[in-house]
Amino acid sequence: MATETLNIKVTKTKESKISQFDPNNISFGTVFTDHMLVADCINGEWQTPEIVPYGEIAYNPALASLHYGQSIFEGMKAFKNEADEVLMFRPLENFKRFNISAERMCMAQVPEEIFINGLEELLKIDAAWVPKGEENSLYLRPFMFASDVYLGVRPSQNYRFMIIMSPAGQYYATPPKVKVETEFIRSAEGGVGYAKCAGNYAASLYPAKLAAEQGYTQLLWTDAKEHKYFEESGTMNVMFVKEGKIVTPKVSTTILKGITRDTLLQLAQSMGIEIEERQVSVAEIIEGITAGTVSEVFGVGTAVVVSPFAAIGFEGTDYKLAEINENSVSNKLKKALNDIRTGKIADTFGWVW
Ligand code: PMP
Repeated sequence: MATETLNIKVTKTKESKISQFDPNNISFGTVFTDHMLVADCINGEWQTPEIVPYGEIAYNPALASLHYGQSIFEGMKAFKNEADEVLMFRPLENFKRFNISAERMCMAQVPEEIFINGLEELLKIDAAWVPKGEENSLYLRPFMFASDVYLGVRPSQNYRFMIIMSPAGQYYATPPKVKVETEFIRSAEGGVGYAKCAGNYAASLYPAKLAAEQGYTQLLWTDAKEHKYFEESGTMNVMFVKEGKIVTPKVSTTILKGITRDTLLQLAQSMGIEIEERQVSVAEIIEGITAGTVSEVFGVGTAVVVSPFAAIGFEGTDYKLAEINENSVSNKLKKALNDIRTGKIADTFGWVW
Protein backbone atom coordinates (compact mmCIF):
# COMPACT_ATOMS: atom_id res chain seq x y z
CA MET A 1 0.00 0.00 0.00
CA ALA A 2 1.29 3.48 -0.81
CA THR A 3 1.60 6.20 1.88
CA GLU A 4 2.91 9.78 1.73
CA THR A 5 5.75 10.82 4.11
CA LEU A 6 7.70 14.07 3.81
CA ASN A 7 6.59 14.32 0.20
CA ILE A 8 7.98 10.91 -0.51
CA LYS A 9 5.57 8.28 -1.76
CA VAL A 10 6.31 4.97 -0.05
CA THR A 11 5.34 1.54 -1.34
CA LYS A 12 6.68 -1.22 0.88
CA THR A 13 7.74 -4.67 -0.20
CA LYS A 14 5.33 -7.54 0.50
CA GLU A 15 8.16 -9.82 1.49
CA SER A 16 11.43 -8.76 3.13
CA LYS A 17 14.63 -10.51 1.95
CA ILE A 18 16.42 -9.87 5.22
CA SER A 19 16.31 -13.48 6.41
CA GLN A 20 18.57 -14.35 3.43
CA PHE A 21 21.22 -11.87 4.62
CA ASP A 22 24.09 -13.12 6.81
CA PRO A 23 25.78 -10.16 8.60
CA ASN A 24 28.76 -12.39 9.42
CA ASN A 25 29.50 -13.10 5.79
CA ILE A 26 29.19 -9.91 3.74
CA SER A 27 30.48 -9.72 0.20
CA PHE A 28 30.70 -6.06 -0.87
CA GLY A 29 28.11 -4.81 -3.34
CA THR A 30 26.26 -8.06 -3.90
CA VAL A 31 23.26 -7.84 -1.60
CA PHE A 32 20.75 -4.97 -1.59
CA THR A 33 18.20 -3.90 0.99
CA ASP A 34 14.45 -4.25 0.50
CA HIS A 35 13.81 -0.73 -0.82
CA MET A 36 15.23 1.95 -3.11
CA LEU A 37 14.47 5.58 -3.81
CA VAL A 38 13.58 6.87 -7.26
CA ALA A 39 13.09 10.52 -8.27
CA ASP A 40 12.74 11.85 -11.79
CA CYS A 41 13.62 15.30 -13.02
CA ILE A 42 11.45 16.00 -16.05
CA ASN A 43 12.35 19.11 -18.06
CA GLY A 44 13.91 20.73 -14.99
CA GLU A 45 11.05 19.86 -12.58
CA TRP A 46 11.67 17.34 -9.82
CA GLN A 47 8.75 14.94 -9.43
CA THR A 48 7.65 13.45 -6.07
CA PRO A 49 10.33 10.93 -5.01
CA GLU A 50 9.17 7.39 -4.43
CA ILE A 51 10.48 4.64 -2.20
CA VAL A 52 9.65 1.32 -3.81
CA PRO A 53 10.68 -2.33 -3.41
CA TYR A 54 14.25 -2.88 -4.68
CA GLY A 55 14.12 -4.24 -8.18
CA GLU A 56 15.07 -3.98 -11.81
CA ILE A 57 14.43 -0.91 -13.94
CA ALA A 58 13.62 -1.16 -17.62
CA TYR A 59 14.95 1.36 -20.15
CA ASN A 60 14.79 2.30 -23.77
CA PRO A 61 18.00 1.32 -25.65
CA ALA A 62 18.44 4.96 -26.71
CA LEU A 63 18.85 6.08 -23.06
CA ALA A 64 21.29 9.01 -23.25
CA SER A 65 23.43 8.00 -20.24
CA LEU A 66 24.19 4.60 -21.79
CA HIS A 67 25.69 6.28 -24.85
CA TYR A 68 27.36 9.47 -23.65
CA GLY A 69 27.97 8.81 -19.98
CA GLN A 70 26.10 11.57 -18.14
CA SER A 71 26.12 9.53 -14.97
CA ILE A 72 27.35 10.36 -11.46
CA PHE A 73 27.27 8.76 -8.02
CA GLU A 74 28.19 9.04 -4.36
CA GLY A 75 29.42 6.49 -1.86
CA MET A 76 28.64 6.84 1.83
CA LYS A 77 27.94 4.71 4.87
CA ALA A 78 25.44 4.33 7.71
CA PHE A 79 26.27 2.68 11.04
CA LYS A 80 24.45 1.35 14.07
CA ASN A 81 25.51 2.38 17.56
CA GLU A 82 25.15 0.36 20.76
CA ALA A 83 21.60 1.73 21.23
CA ASP A 84 20.66 0.46 17.76
CA GLU A 85 20.34 3.99 16.40
CA VAL A 86 21.25 4.45 12.76
CA LEU A 87 23.96 7.08 12.18
CA MET A 88 25.13 8.70 8.97
CA PHE A 89 28.51 10.35 8.65
CA ARG A 90 28.80 13.87 7.15
CA PRO A 91 26.02 13.27 4.58
CA LEU A 92 25.87 16.97 3.66
CA GLU A 93 29.42 16.70 2.31
CA ASN A 94 28.35 13.92 -0.04
CA PHE A 95 25.31 15.94 -1.03
CA LYS A 96 27.47 18.96 -1.90
CA ARG A 97 29.98 16.86 -3.82
CA PHE A 98 27.15 15.20 -5.73
CA ASN A 99 25.96 18.53 -7.04
CA ILE A 100 29.55 19.58 -7.86
CA SER A 101 29.79 16.41 -9.98
CA ALA A 102 26.36 17.20 -11.50
CA GLU A 103 27.49 20.68 -12.48
CA ARG A 104 30.65 19.43 -14.20
CA MET A 105 28.69 16.79 -16.11
CA CYS A 106 26.08 19.39 -17.10
CA MET A 107 23.30 17.56 -15.21
CA ALA A 108 20.38 18.75 -13.06
CA GLN A 109 21.10 19.81 -9.45
CA VAL A 110 19.45 17.54 -6.89
CA PRO A 111 17.54 19.34 -4.10
CA GLU A 112 18.75 18.72 -0.54
CA GLU A 113 15.33 17.44 0.58
CA ILE A 114 15.39 14.70 -2.02
CA PHE A 115 19.00 13.65 -1.33
CA ILE A 116 19.06 13.97 2.48
CA ASN A 117 15.40 13.25 3.33
CA GLY A 118 15.50 10.45 0.80
CA LEU A 119 18.43 8.87 2.63
CA GLU A 120 16.76 9.36 6.01
CA GLU A 121 13.44 7.86 4.95
CA LEU A 122 15.07 4.94 3.22
CA LEU A 123 17.23 4.26 6.29
CA LYS A 124 14.17 4.35 8.56
CA ILE A 125 12.40 1.78 6.42
CA ASP A 126 15.43 -0.51 5.96
CA ALA A 127 17.02 0.12 9.40
CA ALA A 128 17.14 -3.62 10.10
CA TRP A 129 19.68 -3.93 7.26
CA VAL A 130 22.30 -1.75 8.97
CA PRO A 131 24.68 -4.37 10.38
CA LYS A 132 26.35 -3.94 13.77
CA GLY A 133 30.03 -4.63 14.39
CA GLU A 134 33.36 -2.77 14.20
CA GLU A 135 33.99 -3.14 10.44
CA ASN A 136 30.35 -3.38 9.32
CA SER A 137 28.13 -0.71 7.81
CA LEU A 138 25.38 -0.12 5.29
CA TYR A 139 26.87 1.29 2.10
CA LEU A 140 24.64 3.98 0.58
CA ARG A 141 24.78 4.64 -3.14
CA PRO A 142 22.98 7.74 -4.42
CA PHE A 143 23.35 8.06 -8.21
CA MET A 144 21.88 9.94 -11.14
CA PHE A 145 21.83 9.37 -14.86
CA ALA A 146 20.58 11.11 -17.99
CA SER A 147 17.23 9.60 -18.90
CA ASP A 148 16.49 11.24 -22.24
CA VAL A 149 15.61 8.82 -25.00
CA TYR A 150 17.66 10.57 -27.68
CA LEU A 151 20.80 9.82 -29.64
CA GLY A 152 21.98 13.37 -30.23
CA VAL A 153 24.96 14.55 -28.17
CA ARG A 154 23.59 17.25 -25.85
CA PRO A 155 22.89 17.63 -22.13
CA SER A 156 19.89 15.47 -21.29
CA GLN A 157 16.65 17.26 -20.42
CA ASN A 158 15.55 14.49 -18.06
CA TYR A 159 17.37 12.77 -15.20
CA ARG A 160 16.70 9.95 -12.82
CA PHE A 161 18.09 10.11 -9.27
CA MET A 162 18.15 6.92 -7.23
CA ILE A 163 19.45 5.62 -3.91
CA ILE A 164 20.22 1.97 -3.33
CA MET A 165 21.80 0.47 -0.19
CA SER A 166 24.04 -2.55 0.35
CA PRO A 167 25.48 -4.03 3.57
CA ALA A 168 29.30 -3.82 3.75
CA GLY A 169 32.04 -5.44 5.83
CA GLN A 170 35.83 -5.08 5.65
CA TYR A 171 37.09 -4.18 2.16
CA TYR A 172 40.61 -5.64 1.79
CA ALA A 173 41.53 -8.70 3.80
CA THR A 174 45.31 -8.19 3.46
CA PRO A 175 47.31 -4.98 2.90
CA PRO A 176 47.53 -4.41 -0.87
CA LYS A 177 50.64 -4.06 -3.01
CA VAL A 178 50.21 -0.97 -5.20
CA LYS A 179 51.89 0.05 -8.44
CA VAL A 180 52.99 3.59 -9.29
CA GLU A 181 51.31 4.20 -12.65
CA THR A 182 53.65 5.96 -15.06
CA GLU A 183 51.92 5.36 -18.38
CA PHE A 184 48.15 5.79 -18.00
CA ILE A 185 46.40 8.65 -16.22
CA ARG A 186 43.20 8.96 -14.19
CA SER A 187 42.70 12.64 -14.70
CA ALA A 188 44.23 15.80 -16.16
CA GLU A 189 43.88 19.51 -15.55
CA GLY A 190 40.71 20.78 -17.21
CA GLY A 191 39.22 17.30 -17.09
CA VAL A 192 36.73 15.64 -14.78
CA GLY A 193 38.98 14.16 -12.07
CA TYR A 194 37.26 16.08 -9.25
CA ALA A 195 33.83 14.75 -10.29
CA LYS A 196 32.47 11.39 -9.21
CA CYS A 197 31.35 10.49 -12.72
CA ALA A 198 30.97 6.96 -14.02
CA GLY A 199 33.49 7.40 -16.86
CA ASN A 200 36.38 8.04 -14.45
CA TYR A 201 35.92 4.55 -13.07
CA ALA A 202 35.54 2.95 -16.51
CA ALA A 203 38.80 4.59 -17.64
CA SER A 204 40.68 3.21 -14.64
CA LEU A 205 39.79 -0.43 -15.28
CA TYR A 206 42.27 -1.19 -18.07
CA PRO A 207 45.40 0.15 -16.32
CA ALA A 208 44.24 -1.59 -13.12
CA LYS A 209 43.85 -4.85 -15.03
CA LEU A 210 47.40 -4.59 -16.43
CA ALA A 211 48.70 -3.89 -12.92
CA ALA A 212 46.79 -6.92 -11.57
CA GLU A 213 48.50 -9.10 -14.19
CA GLN A 214 51.81 -7.89 -12.72
CA GLY A 215 50.67 -8.83 -9.20
CA TYR A 216 49.44 -5.46 -7.92
CA THR A 217 46.09 -4.99 -6.19
CA GLN A 218 45.82 -1.29 -6.81
CA LEU A 219 47.34 1.70 -8.64
CA LEU A 220 48.97 4.85 -7.38
CA TRP A 221 48.04 7.50 -9.92
CA THR A 222 50.55 10.19 -10.83
CA ASP A 223 50.09 13.57 -12.52
CA ALA A 224 49.22 13.60 -16.23
CA LYS A 225 52.06 15.90 -17.35
CA GLU A 226 55.19 14.29 -15.91
CA HIS A 227 54.14 11.26 -13.86
CA LYS A 228 56.29 12.77 -11.11
CA TYR A 229 53.76 13.59 -8.41
CA PHE A 230 51.27 11.38 -6.60
CA GLU A 231 47.57 12.07 -7.05
CA GLU A 232 45.38 9.30 -5.64
CA SER A 233 45.36 5.55 -5.21
CA GLY A 234 42.69 3.57 -7.03
CA THR A 235 39.44 4.94 -5.67
CA MET A 236 41.04 6.44 -2.58
CA ASN A 237 43.03 9.49 -1.60
CA VAL A 238 46.54 8.73 -0.48
CA MET A 239 48.55 9.68 2.62
CA PHE A 240 52.18 9.16 3.60
CA VAL A 241 53.77 9.24 7.04
CA LYS A 242 57.15 10.93 6.82
CA GLU A 243 59.15 11.58 9.97
CA GLY A 244 55.94 11.34 12.00
CA LYS A 245 54.05 13.88 9.86
CA ILE A 246 51.17 13.15 7.51
CA VAL A 247 52.01 14.25 4.00
CA THR A 248 49.27 14.17 1.36
CA PRO A 249 48.71 15.62 -2.12
CA LYS A 250 46.91 18.95 -2.04
CA VAL A 251 43.45 18.68 -3.61
CA SER A 252 43.02 20.19 -7.06
CA THR A 253 40.75 19.78 -10.08
CA THR A 254 42.51 16.50 -10.87
CA ILE A 255 41.80 14.90 -7.48
CA LEU A 256 38.49 13.81 -5.97
CA LYS A 257 38.06 15.76 -2.72
CA GLY A 258 37.61 12.84 -0.37
CA ILE A 259 35.47 13.26 2.72
CA THR A 260 37.53 10.64 4.55
CA ARG A 261 40.69 12.57 3.61
CA ASP A 262 39.28 15.81 5.02
CA THR A 263 38.01 14.02 8.15
CA LEU A 264 41.33 12.28 8.86
CA LEU A 265 43.32 15.49 8.39
CA GLN A 266 41.09 17.24 10.94
CA LEU A 267 41.34 14.27 13.31
CA ALA A 268 45.13 14.13 12.94
CA GLN A 269 45.43 17.81 13.81
CA SER A 270 43.22 17.33 16.85
CA MET A 271 45.53 14.48 17.92
CA GLY A 272 48.57 16.74 17.59
CA ILE A 273 49.89 15.08 14.42
CA GLU A 274 51.39 17.55 11.96
CA ILE A 275 49.98 17.57 8.43
CA GLU A 276 51.36 18.81 5.12
CA GLU A 277 49.09 19.24 2.09
CA ARG A 278 51.38 19.77 -0.87
CA GLN A 279 52.83 18.19 -3.99
CA VAL A 280 54.34 14.82 -3.08
CA SER A 281 56.83 13.48 -5.57
CA VAL A 282 57.36 9.81 -6.33
CA ALA A 283 61.12 10.33 -5.89
CA GLU A 284 60.62 11.77 -2.38
CA ILE A 285 58.57 8.79 -1.25
CA ILE A 286 60.74 6.10 -2.84
CA GLU A 287 63.86 7.70 -1.32
CA GLY A 288 62.05 8.02 2.00
CA ILE A 289 61.03 4.36 2.09
CA THR A 290 64.61 3.35 1.24
CA ALA A 291 66.08 5.67 3.88
CA GLY A 292 63.47 4.69 6.49
CA THR A 293 61.98 8.19 6.82
CA VAL A 294 58.68 7.22 5.15
CA SER A 295 57.11 4.67 7.45
CA GLU A 296 53.54 4.34 6.20
CA VAL A 297 51.63 4.73 2.96
CA PHE A 298 47.87 4.29 3.02
CA GLY A 299 44.74 4.88 1.00
CA VAL A 300 41.76 6.62 2.59
CA GLY A 301 38.15 6.51 1.46
CA THR A 302 34.63 5.63 2.49
CA ALA A 303 34.78 2.02 1.34
CA VAL A 304 38.13 1.18 2.96
CA VAL A 305 38.30 3.83 5.70
CA VAL A 306 42.11 3.42 5.96
CA SER A 307 43.98 0.89 3.89
CA PRO A 308 47.71 0.57 4.69
CA PHE A 309 49.83 -0.62 1.77
CA ALA A 310 52.26 -3.53 2.04
CA ALA A 311 54.56 -2.36 -0.76
CA ILE A 312 54.85 0.18 -3.56
CA GLY A 313 55.96 -1.02 -6.98
CA PHE A 314 57.92 1.53 -9.01
CA GLU A 315 59.71 0.81 -12.30
CA GLY A 316 59.81 -2.92 -11.59
CA THR A 317 61.04 -2.76 -7.97
CA ASP A 318 58.82 -3.35 -4.94
CA TYR A 319 59.56 -1.03 -2.02
CA LYS A 320 58.28 -2.82 1.07
CA LEU A 321 56.63 -1.05 3.96
CA ALA A 322 56.74 -2.23 7.56
CA GLU A 323 53.66 -3.95 8.97
CA ILE A 324 51.15 -1.75 10.72
CA ASN A 325 50.97 -2.03 14.52
CA GLU A 326 48.96 -0.47 17.37
CA ASN A 327 51.12 2.67 17.30
CA SER A 328 50.99 3.25 13.56
CA VAL A 329 49.52 6.60 12.56
CA SER A 330 47.09 4.96 10.12
CA ASN A 331 45.88 2.61 12.84
CA LYS A 332 45.30 5.41 15.35
CA LEU A 333 43.41 7.46 12.76
CA LYS A 334 41.29 4.53 11.68
CA LYS A 335 40.37 3.71 15.26
CA ALA A 336 39.49 7.33 16.07
CA LEU A 337 37.32 7.65 12.96
CA ASN A 338 35.56 4.32 13.51
CA ASP A 339 34.84 5.20 17.13
CA ILE A 340 33.25 8.50 16.11
CA ARG A 341 31.32 7.03 13.17
CA THR A 342 29.85 4.25 15.24
CA GLY A 343 29.00 6.53 18.17
CA LYS A 344 31.52 4.91 20.57
CA ILE A 345 33.15 8.22 21.43
CA ALA A 346 31.57 11.65 21.50
CA ASP A 347 31.57 13.52 18.21
CA THR A 348 32.91 16.96 19.02
CA PHE A 349 33.12 17.87 15.32
CA GLY A 350 29.39 17.66 14.49
CA TRP A 351 30.00 14.96 11.87
CA VAL A 352 27.50 12.33 13.00
CA TRP A 353 23.95 12.69 11.70
N1 PMP B 1 39.13 9.25 -4.84
C1 PMP B 1 38.28 8.59 -5.64
C2 PMP B 1 38.56 8.54 -7.10
C3 PMP B 1 37.14 7.96 -5.10
O1 PMP B 1 36.29 7.29 -5.89
C4 PMP B 1 36.92 8.03 -3.72
C5 PMP B 1 35.72 7.35 -3.11
N2 PMP B 1 34.61 8.20 -3.11
C6 PMP B 1 37.82 8.74 -2.91
C7 PMP B 1 38.93 9.33 -3.51
C8 PMP B 1 37.62 8.89 -1.44
O2 PMP B 1 36.53 9.75 -1.18
P1 PMP B 1 35.64 9.60 0.13
O3 PMP B 1 36.56 9.66 1.27
O4 PMP B 1 34.72 10.75 0.10
O5 PMP B 1 34.96 8.30 0.02
